[in-house]
Amino acid sequence: MGVFDRTKYFIVDMDGTFYLDGGIIPGSDDFLNAVRESGRDFYFFTNNSSNNVEVCRAKLANMGFPVDEKRVIISSHVAADFMNRNHPGKRIFLLGNERLTKDCKDAGLNLVENNPDIVLLGFDTTLTYQKIWDAVRFLEAGALYYATHPDRNCPTADGYKPDTGSMIEMFAASTGRYPEVLGKPMTATVDYITGMLGCKADEIAFIGDRLETDIAIGCNHGIPCALVFSGVTTPEMYEKSGFRASVTVDKMQNLTKYL
Ligand SMILES: [Mg+2]
Repeated sequence: MGVFDRTKYFIVDMDGTFYLDGGIIPGSDDFLNAVRESGRDFYFFTNNSSNNVEVCRAKLANMGFPVDEKRVIISSHVAADFMNRNHPGKRIFLLGNERLTKDCKDAGLNLVENNPDIVLLGFDTTLTYQKIWDAVRFLEAGALYYATHPDRNCPTADGYKPDTGSMIEMFAASTGRYPEVLGKPMTATVDYITGMLGCKADEIAFIGDRLETDIAIGCNHGIPCALVFSGVTTPEMYEKSGFRASVTVDKMQNLTKYL
């Protein structure tokens, strides 16, 4: 039996998997076209909650790969859906930039500046000392604590920039508290995707370049996962890690033979 025999939907990471430094990794677009020709479909999923769907779509369109709105899923969607289902109407102090703030407001979350029930940490590219201090006070006062995703660094064309996982460590150093994470590799993400697509967990498959998120989510949930060596993980790092992907390839194009 082939590794993707049950797969209806490929959930494809963006950075380091589909593109790198503003350009499509050669053949990645051919692979996604082959996915469609095989009667399957694909969705992009990124943990990067500093971007919104429009930013991601513009990026893809600039590379010559335009997609419709529903085809881009972000950890912020998982977080907003999780809040609405599990904590409807609760007062939420959000650490996020203007795009994430707008997405959360549009999703109906009750964002507040004081006395929150919940602190929600996103990839806040506009983080200030005042916001850090406020969040620490709210965590000390016993607010529930969530984060959109665990990535410590975000790759850019000029090296990496510190991401939400690094902010998690900063808040832990001050308060001793760690959040419940909602994006890849967590169950909330599997629940969100399968709910949105109306499918079973074993009918999706993850493709990505990061072991702790893209591969861990497959391993932790019995879902096929493909590791590509076109991004942050080298074959040597993979060999030394405790993670085992369903299949490994140099780049996404080389998955075509498994369709
Ligand atoms: Mg990636």
